[in-house]
Amino acid sequence: MDCINTRLWSIIGQRWPITLAMVIGAAACITTLITKEDPTVTLVLSCAGYLGISSSYVLVRLLASKFFPNYANRVRIPTLSKLLGHIVNPIVNQMVKITSNSQRQHFDNFIAELNSSGKLEYVLNEFNKLKKENNIEGMFHLIWGLEEAHRCLDIDVVPSSKSEEESERLRREGENCYEKKQCEKALHFYNLSLMSAPHPEMYTEGTYQQNKSGIENSRIVYRELALAFVSRSVVLYDLKQYRQCIYDIDTALKLGYYNVNNCDILERKMKCLFALNETQEARDVLEECINYLMFCNLSGTEYETKKMSLLKYRHKSYDYSKHSRNRRNSFHAYGNIRNISDEDLVFAYQTPPPPSLVGFENPSIPALSNALRMQYTPQQGRFLIATRDILPGEVLAVEKGYVTSVNIKDPVALQTYCCTCLAHCAAPLPCPECAMVVFCSENCRLEGLTNFHRIECEALATISVLKFPCISAYRMLIKNSYVKLKNLIPQ
Ligand SMILES: [Zn+2]
Ligand SMILES: [Zn+2]
Repeated sequence: MDCINTRLWSIIGQRWPITLAMVIGAAACITTLITKEDPTVTLVLSCAGYLGISSSYVLVRLLASKFFPNYANRVRIPTLSKLLGHIVNPIVNQMVKITSNSQRQHFDNFIAELNSSGKLEYVLNEFNKLKKENNIEGMFHLIWGLEEAHRCLDIDVVPSSKSEEESERLRREGENCYEKKQCEKALHFYNLSLMSAPHPEMYTEGTYQQNKSGIENSRIVYRELALAFVSRSVVLYDLKQYRQCIYDIDTALKLGYYNVNNCDILERKMKCLFALNETQEARDVLEECINYLMFCNLSGTEYETKKMSLLKYRHKSYDYSKHSRNRRNSFHAYGNIRNISDEDLVFAYQTPPPPSLVGFENPSIPALSNALRMQYTPQQGRFLIATRDILPGEVLAVEKGYVTSVNIKDPVALQTYCCTCLAHCAAPLPCPECAMVVFCSENCRLEGLTNFHRIECEALATISVLKFPCISAYRMLIKNSYVKLKNLIPQ
């Protein structure tokens, strides 16, 4: 064979045969992507592709020796390198099988079981009959009525559990970023750390459940969660998000966080309150902080220095709040937008509330403005007409989505947008059970946990790896029964 090739080459040259083989192979392979629908065409193209690839492979083997200098040829590098293809081939095959075969395997097992119980022919006949009638519900009932289906077509459940180790790792990453003054990145890692940290169960009122041993017990179990809240409060303070900083500190304290060496977090809370101009509360926390100092493991001089620095706040408080009030006003004023630093920008964007129809509600259809009226004629069907002149930019219809969901194939979106109201949240709250979603506020978390998310929480990780992540359909089924949904479809 090699001898014939060499003879042919002397006539037609060496460049064209290999180029032609490669072009044919590549063109045929790419065309199979376009003609997926027709199996015969795909088969012919695959064969042509394979022919092209194997021809170029045979030719390259003969050319290979020319690419290498003589000393390399002597140690048979060209022959060895060509063998690499043989070595890699089964690995590539295996990789393709691993990624695509897990669902296929379930189906193959199902068919094999039906075959061994002798039901295959009956099931196929019935199924095809129902398929001709386009009776999708009947097809589903036929398959789901078989015990083999329940045995074989099980879904591989993906757990989404919290992990103390993962939470600690993410918190340390956050600390590294914070040391490098990368506040935004640090905040991101602390958010992730909060999502991964084991969390106490919650009452429906949204308060932390405390068992008999109360806070003593939570000190041990939810250590990572408390530490993540404490770490995040440091960044939130630096980013001047005082309200959220106080929330994180209070949560850490509720979880039983305490530090025997200093009273940092109380001091931070006090500074936040002063900054928010809540002077009375700030003074109360200051006194609490001074009292707490007595129980810290501090030497005599350390205690005195710390106490002195705290006592200064008793006198400084007024100036501090005045300064900070101006600062906050400028943050929200559009005219001073140049004063906003890059780090403030993390919080600068807030999801705007939906437009409102207040004062213009339509008496018969609440989602429409009274500038519109719905009419119907048998020829034209339903349509809207204007009852008066409509101003430019006037809101005409506002309706809440029947079901809404964050794209669950996008982990960044899941970590950034509230699972209930879809608002952007820079310092979100975690779900107590899973490490998949976040909530923008206590209210949204409460709504989520008493509503959709209570049911989907366990299933979300599994749904997210499905080929067609059907989260909106799943939420629709949570909201309504299948029968109710079916009745909505016009016959
Ligand atoms: Zn929300
Ligand atoms: Zn959850």
